Amino acid sequence: MSEDIFIKPDQETKAETKPGNYFVSNYPPFSFWKEDDVPCVESMLQSPSPGTAPMGIYYHVPFCRKRCHFCYFRVYTDKNSQAVRKYIDATLHELETYAKTPYLEGRKPQFVYFGGGTPSYLSAQQLTELTDRMKSIMPWDEAEEVTFECEPGTLTEKKLEVIKNFGVTRLSLGIENFNDHILETNGRAHRSQEVFRAYEYARNLGFQNINVDLIAGMLEETDANWEECVEKVVELSPDCITIYQMEVPFNTTIFKSMKEQGKLTAPVADWPTKRKWVTQAYEKLEAAGYTITSAYTAVKDPQNTKFVYRDRLWSGADMLALGVSSFGHLGGIHYQNLTHFDQYCDAQERFSNTVRRALLTTDDERFLREFILQWKLGRVSPRYFQSKFGVDIRQRFKDILEKWKEAGDLLEKEGELLLTRDALLRIDSMLHDFFLPQHQNAKYV
Ligand code: SF4
Repeated sequence: MSEDIFIKPDQETKAETKPGNYFVSNYPPFSFWKEDDVPCVESMLQSPSPGTAPMGIYYHVPFCRKRCHFCYFRVYTDKNSQAVRKYIDATLHELETYAKTPYLEGRKPQFVYFGGGTPSYLSAQQLTELTDRMKSIMPWDEAEEVTFECEPGTLTEKKLEVIKNFGVTRLSLGIENFNDHILETNGRAHRSQEVFRAYEYARNLGFQNINVDLIAGMLEETDANWEECVEKVVELSPDCITIYQMEVPFNTTIFKSMKEQGKLTAPVADWPTKRKWVTQAYEKLEAAGYTITSAYTAVKDPQNTKFVYRDRLWSGADMLALGVSSFGHLGGIHYQNLTHFDQYCDAQERFSNTVRRALLTTDDERFLREFILQWKLGRVSPRYFQSKFGVDIRQRFKDILEKWKEAGDLLEKEGELLLTRDALLRIDSMLHDFFLPQHQNAKYV
């Protein structure tokens, strides 16, 4: 999960890739989360349990072998096994503390997500110990999905066996591109041979759902190479393919070198080109039998391949965030943990609070959060929002929806609002239309 530094795409220059995030990952924007609301998290934890209300765990692994040039996450490439041990202990202590609170006691996660950084950076032994202890604190036996993000070069057959055995159902491989020169130019640690090797091991081990990530528009991407990437991913035939459009946030190596050279435009493809590449990929994937299920995902068998983490999160589930700089959501309160490794680990050792900032959302913000995030699925149900929040979205957003219809971005079918493919691929820049006035033009920091 990312810590976004986000700017609204500049309307006049939006064709070029300017620095900043365009991806809307939460609402209200992070810059409105504040230290003043941190005590609300503790009050919520002391309130009675909501029983069977959906809940999941996000576990953040902040380690990577190498820092990618486009990466804006807080990751560490220099931690030894002693530091990893310290981190695992701190996160388990955090989980133990949460598990004893009235709000969470006795609740079981319906999804678990290991994200990063690179969860597969941990050794087989570290993973076994971590997950055994996590399960003894808060059992996962009712989890519908356990996702684990991997960097292909960190995977051995033995490690994958361990990952499978501790219950991972959704294995996510950060491939990004199949071309070794592009991987190297973008600072990725792995090479294509490692992708094929890891994929074969994972398939042979029988993982239920294998997702692979690609990025359209990495440094030095070309039409011909992208076409080849799409052909290769179709050949690989994973259960799910996630395609992101490259963005260049401020705290990336790419932005640093842009600044040194006095450049305002990022040295990657412009937005229309990136959208063209995703469109081409989706067309090829559809021809190969995939279904496009969101702005970023194509799925081979939509009946049986779910993404519980995303769907629960986008419909307001509680999410317990563990680890440095992790983002969570409990009982309508957003929160983020301390963002520095030592600060976080030391605070856990001292039994101090590790929440850095929070936001007690209003009913309207909770409605808007779901409404905004669900547009990324390409379809929104007025009935759902009427019954859950009592909001008539057609009425409340009449002008915006009319404008979208007139622009050919929106259709209405069987009572649902549907985005066209073209609009779906631009959705992150369109969502700002729904932000409350006080959140418009906000910077995410
Ligand atoms: S592997 Fe992911 S988290 Fe690690 S440096 Fe690269 S982009 Fe960042």
